[in-house]
Amino acid sequence: MEVGKTKTYVYSDAELDRAEGEAIEALKTHSQQPIPDPDRWLDEELKRNILLTSLDVAINWARRSSLWPVVCFPACCAFEFITTAASRFDISRFGMEIIRASPRQADLMITAGTLTWKMAPQVRRIYDQMAEPKWVIAMGACGISGGIFASSYSVVPGYNRIIPVDVYVPGCPPRPEALLYGIQMLHHKISKRSIVIER
Ligand code: SF4
Repeated sequence: MEVGKTKTYVYSDAELDRAEGEAIEALKTHSQQPIPDPDRWLDEELKRNILLTSLDVAINWARRSSLWPVVCFPACCAFEFITTAASRFDISRFGMEIIRASPRQADLMITAGTLTWKMAPQVRRIYDQMAEPKWVIAMGACGISGGIFASSYSVVPGYNRIIPVDVYVPGCPPRPEALLYGIQMLHHKISKRSIVIER
């Protein structure tokens, strides 16, 4: 009820019920359609980004894209490996710039140097402590066959006498490009693996 210039509402119980009913009806009238989902763009994004593949491909991709080399640099090939890891050649593009001092956090051994029989038990122990699956790249003539020291009484004529080797990179020393090619060959080998065979 309006008295003078001041609005004064006086409700009886019946008027309260009527006002409440009007409010409900008004809300009902304006609520006949669902409110559009503000996150609908998420569905569109998912449709454009779903990739179907096999478990083997996904696991092999992850493994070859995150090879972590263990420290194993007994001689001069080490400098070529260091150069390969530095900015000009840059192995971080393969996800392998983390060179681990702990064999338990590494799955790749790059044999960058001459190996003597005196050092051989330690290298074998490091290999045994590395996480499975693990791989070995024999780098340089010494890593492959003992190189110029092959006939020496004290030099191991190839790392493959004490550990299984996956890829051989020849040279004395091999240039970084050769080591990068060897790493790509190892990627190719890993991509052929299957978890079925592993079991
Ligand atoms: S292959 Fe040549 S550069 Fe490499 S460790 Fe042997 S002697 Fe040194």
